[in-house]
Amino acid sequence: MRKTCSYKIYDGTRADMFGHSCTRLMKVIENGKPLCNLHSAAGLAKARYVREARWAEESKALEEKYAREAEKERKAKDYDALARQVETLKLALEQSTAMLNVLKDAKYSNQLLPEMLGNQVVINRNALAGLEG
Ligand SMILES: [Zn+2]
Repeated sequence: MRKTCSYKIYDGTRADMFGHSCTRLMKVIENGKPLCNLHSAAGLAKARYVREARWAEESKALEEKYAREAEKERKAKDYDALARQVETLKLALEQSTAMLNVLKDAKYSNQLLPEMLGNQVVINRNALAGLEG
C-alpha cells in the first residue's frame, strides 16, 4: 500500500477544526515525513513564489490604478483652473471692449469737441462784437 502525504490542511470550517491530511500520494520523505510534490519544501516554495508573484502583480495593478485616478483628478483640477482663467479672460475682454467703445466715443468727441468749441467761440465772439457794436 502506497503512503499518502502527511501534510495537515486546514480549510477554516468548524467541521475541519483539527485539520485533515492531504490525500495526494507521497513523492518524497522530508524530515521523516511523507509528502506529495505540492507539500514538499520545493513544492511549498514554488507555491509561495507563485503567490508572491501574483500579489506583486496585483499590487502593481492597484498602484497603476491609483496613479491613473490621481492623474484624472489632477487633470480635472487643471481643467477647473483653466475654466477659471477663461472666465477671467472673458471678463477682461468684455472690459477691454467696453473701454475701447468709450475710447472710440472719446475719439469721436475729440473730433467733435474742437468743432463744437470753435462754433461756441465764434458765437461768443459775435455776441461780444454785438455788445461792443
Ligand atoms: Zn500533500
